[in-house]
Amino acid sequence: MEEISHPRILSGLVVRDAIREKLASQVSTFLTPPTLMIIQVGDREDSNTYIREKINFGASIGMEVKVKKLKETITEAELEEEIHVHNTDTSVTGIIVQLPLPVHISKHILEHIKPLKDVDCLTAYHEERLKNGDVRSAPATARAIRTLLEYYTIPVASRHIVIVGRSRLVGGPTATLLRLSGAKVSVIHRQTENPKAISQSADVLVVACGVPQLITEEWINPSLHTVVVDVGIHRTETGLVGDVDFDRVKGSVSAISPVPGGVGPLTVASLFEHLVSTHVQSLV
Ligand code: NAD
Repeated sequence: MEEISHPRILSGLVVRDAIREKLASQVSTFLTPPTLMIIQVGDREDSNTYIREKINFGASIGMEVKVKKLKETITEAELEEEIHVHNTDTSVTGIIVQLPLPVHISKHILEHIKPLKDVDCLTAYHEERLKNGDVRSAPATARAIRTLLEYYTIPVASRHIVIVGRSRLVGGPTATLLRLSGAKVSVIHRQTENPKAISQSADVLVVACGVPQLITEEWINPSLHTVVVDVGIHRTETGLVGDVDFDRVKGSVSAISPVPGGVGPLTVASLFEHLVSTHVQSLV
């Protein structure tokens, strides 16, 4: 069996830094910079970390990120009212409701965000637009995956891309976005029979299943020189790990995105790219 000793590492950090530089220069030309409003329900430690990353990225490009922290016990009606306040505030460019929400609040609450302020692109409005071919409506993680592949000149048109996971947040929109780029996409989910046989035929394997280190060398056919994009993020006692077992697959793939330092930082940058372009649209 062919062994690839040094796969190419697809760092998202260098791509993120390039986007940061471009956005900072763009924002410096605005009379009034765009503002992001993050609504957080409760005080989850992982959410606090993701919010801090957004605040820091925003500050680094000269943008204000505001956080409205609400008590865990807030009712759906109260949260709806809070969203409405920011929908009508003309100084707010984009609104994010930080996920996950407490179990007593339905994800349908997101539908109350005005579509033009839904910079996470999680409302049915954007889902529909993406399906109809408008790539500007792709959620940040899907765009981050496409940007990573573009930056490292990994072709997707006519290639077989296998996506593990079909969530509304990641797997589903990534499949749609890559199909729009001309890829032949197969999607694996919990009920898929014989998933390893499908993933072994991938030119590019995108993994977003939420199961730590599920993907091992058994999912890869080394003769295809597969490119692996690991979207997963899990905090363990020994640090962050992805949905891919990096050490076990690295000898079988031609390129792989690391965790940390892969899709994660690029997702934050993609969110701000979208926010800045929303701001530009609002000026015309
Ligand atoms: P999710 O739980 O909503 O969806 C997981 C999907 O994977 C489902 O479609 C499910 O059917 C499928 N799946 C689960 N177990 C499977 C298995 N054993 N075999 C095949 N398919 C399986 O998760 P999500 O919100 O889509 O997130 C996926 C991963 O991406 C998580 O690790 C999450 O932390 C990470 N994530 C990363 C970023 C980023 O910016 N890097 C952003 C969002 C989510």
